[in-house]
Parts: sequence; C-alpha cells; structure tokens
Amino acid sequence: MADNEAAPELLERAPTQIFLGRVALQRDRLLAAGAAADRVADEIPAFGHVTRAALKAALRETDQALAELAERIDRRGLTDTRLERFAMLRTATDRVVGECFALAAGVLTRKAGLDGDACREADEFIAELASLINPSLARPTVPGEEEFLHRGVDVIRRRLPDNGVWDLAVMAHEFGHVLVAHHQRWDTTNDAKIDMQSMVEEGWAAYPRAPSEELFCDAFATFVLGPAYAAALVLHRLDPAEQTAPASSGTHPPDAARAVVVLEALGRLAVEETSETRVPLLHQYLTAAWASLQAQSPASLRLSDDDHLSLTMRTRRAHNDLARWLEPAQFHWPSMTIQEVRKHLEGQQPTAGSAPRATIREVLNAAWLSRVEAWQTNCGLAEGLETRAREAICRTAQRNE
Ligand SMILES: [Zn+2]
Repeated sequence: MADNEAAPELLERAPTQIFLGRVALQRDRLLAAGAAADRVADEIPAFGHVTRAALKAALRETDQALAELAERIDRRGLTDTRLERFAMLRTATDRVVGECFALAAGVLTRKAGLDGDACREADEFIAELASLINPSLARPTVPGEEEFLHRGVDVIRRRLPDNGVWDLAVMAHEFGHVLVAHHQRWDTTNDAKIDMQSMVEEGWAAYPRAPSEELFCDAFATFVLGPAYAAALVLHRLDPAEQTAPASSGTHPPDAARAVVVLEALGRLAVEETSETRVPLLHQYLTAAWASLQAQSPASLRLSDDDHLSLTMRTRRAHNDLARWLEPAQFHWPSMTIQEVRKHLEGQQPTAGSAPRATIREVLNAAWLSRVEAWQTNCGLAEGLETRAREAICRTAQRNE
C-alpha cells in the first residue's frame, strides 16, 4: 500500500525527470563531438586554425542553451513551450554534432590520403586566389559529397572523387562564397566599409538571394580564373536539359542561367584581351558549344528573353564592379607562359627540370586549352597531360611554401 501512496507523487515528477535525462543525453553528444573535433583539429593546420574556434563556439552555445532549459524544467516543470524548445535544441544538436563528425571524417580521409591529394591541391589553389585579394581569406578544404562552403565553420568541401584537375576550377566558385561572407572593401568617397554581400543583395535578374549568390560566385570565378572556369562549367557540368523554373522561384539558379552568366563574364574578359590571346576564341567556342547543347533540348527548357537580357546586363555590371574593386585578381591571359606550360603538359619538353614557372591559374588554363583543342580537332588528349598538370600544380605549391 505504501508504494501505491507514493506513486502519484513519483508520477507527477516523472515527465520532468525523463526530460532532464533527455537533455543530459544531448549534452553528452555535444561533449563527444567536441572531443572528436579536438582530436582532428591538429591534423591539418589550416583546419585547426580557422575552424576550431567556430566549432567550439557552436558546441558551447548549444550546450549552454540545453543547460538553461534543464534548469527551467527542473525548477518549474514541463510546459508546451519547454517541450518545443527541447525539440528545437535536439535538432540544433543533430546539426552541430553532424558537422563535427563530417569534418572529422573529412580530415581523416585527407590524412589517410584517400582523396589522392585533391584537397591539398584545392587548398593551394584557394590560397593562390586569396593571395590576390587578402591572404587571410584562404580556407581549408575537406572531402565531401558535393562542393560547398559550410558557412558555420568556414570549411570548403571538395566533391570526391571528382574529375581531378578538370574540377579544380570549381573551387574558385567556392572561394566566391568566402568572399561574400567575409570580404570588405573601403569606399573612400563615403569613408565606409562595404561588404561583398551588396553584390548579391542587389539581386540577379529576379532571383531570390540564394540563387543570386550562386550566380555572383559564377561571375567571380570566371573573373578570377578566365576560360578554365567557363570551360569546366559549360563542357562538363551544366545540364542543357535541366528544367528552367521562373526566376522568382527555387533556391538554385537553373543551369541555363549559370551558362548565361559565365559566358557573359568570359565575354567581358575577352573584349579586354588582345586578339593574340586565346580568350576571344575560347569564348566563341564555348558560346557556340552551349548553344548547340541547348539546341538538342526543347525551347521550353531555355531562359525567357527577358531573363536572358537581365542576367547579361547584371553580369556586365558585376564585371565592372569586380574590375574596379578586385583589379589585381582579374585573370589576364599570359600568352607566352600558357604556351610554354601547354607544351610542357603535352609532353613536348623532355624533362621535368625544364618545366616553366607558372601559377595554378595558368596551369589550369593551359590544360583546358589543350583539352578544348583536342576536342575541336578530334585527336584526343595528349597522354599523361593530367598527371603532368597535377605535378605542375604541386611544384607551384612547393614554391609558395
Ligand atoms: Zn555555390
């Protein structure tokens, strides 16, 4: 009977105890994720330096919110609002724990060499681009399922396996996201700091913010890398048969819109180049290539004339702004160097000792020039070109160390 008398009191307290236990379990998960992040943070210096603080802050804030909720539940019991708050914090815990372990797994994959050094090449390429604007903008890369910049922890994912040297160009787009998040320029007229968000928030055609940022990153990547980026997108990535939703809907721009932006951005570079460089010709070829791909799909999958025009004009303005604000980063085609690098990549120079000095941007453009011309002439890519391109990228990286 004594047990029965005690039961109502015990039961009254039971929901509180159960939820206090659940909060404690979530806090344990955060602790384990923090320990995992600590273990890998030292493996890759750039990863540890940039990311550790961001991850720790996210873990700490989530843990603090859970601790405060536990205290309220303990003192005042469960309410609908507190149950809702717990559900929210459980999702937040999933998010931060998931990110910690994804990064830890990525770092270990890199360390074990399972990425075939692709992330080291990406790190070097991003550092090269950052050095043209602000070296502190360089961000580390880890392998991922697709390319993206994780805003919370500022780590770039490189899709693995990808198509090696041909996909390295896409890292320039990811670096564009870093720029949007962190780069500020000084507006001397108004003595004010202006961040790159303005390049996105002004909007691209009628696209909402997220697709506008993607389009800006495409324009930026073309500005900074030239034909190599436009070729990677048009020849390898963009889908001419993708549905073209109206500009005002969706979170991602349609591939047809991305094609308009990269081709127009490359066109802007082409008009500034002399006719001896290959940029105008590559621009013509890529424009014709995309048009011929689109000709295979129904007209309903193409952009409306209004969207096309609006994107073209927006890209021109973006190019002018980038040329003004980030002038040292603009890609110019160094004919002599690219010619030499190309010969070397195609195996026309006997020893590695005679390899020309070149930046990663130059190596990628020389490689793409070779690939485009191999397609045009239908005679196949020079054997060993990809290997030599990766060796050239590695040498560039060693020189910069
Ligand atoms: Zn993107």
